[in-house]
Amino acid sequence: MAYAYDDQNIFAKILRGEIPNRTVLETDHTLAFEDINPQAPVHVLVIPKGAYVTYDHFAAEASDAEIVDFHRAVARICAEQGLAADGCRFISNAGTHGVQDVPHFHLHILGGRPLGRMLSAG
Ligand code: 5GP
Repeated sequence: MAYAYDDQNIFAKILRGEIPNRTVLETDHTLAFEDINPQAPVHVLVIPKGAYVTYDHFAAEASDAEIVDFHRAVARICAEQGLAADGCRFISNAGTHGVQDVPHFHLHILGGRPLGRMLSAG
């Protein structure tokens, strides 16, 4: 499958420093920052610095170093935000059916309150 990356997407602009963000964690290959429109007391977006459109694109084409760095960053954020005790939710929307608004792979980490069932009907 071919993945066409649009380097004008908002997260690409954040990575280039063209738009500010509230950084939670930055590593060699990964940036995590607060969602501008939080849906829970904790709502962090974790993105690779590389140009990947969706999670499956990242999983297929990123280097081992990028993949390890990304997931270790997720673990660090969960620990630092104290999410282990009560749990949280990881979401990554992809494409049209997934209703992905920003076409740069991002993992939502949501927590700090009960989040309800995963999907509502429709
Ligand atoms: P998606 O629907 O693509 O999974 O989620 C995109 C997320 O990006 C939304 O939760 C939205 O609030 C967030 N977002 C959109 N623009 C910005 C921005 O400029 N800064 C930050 N921090 N978050 C953004």
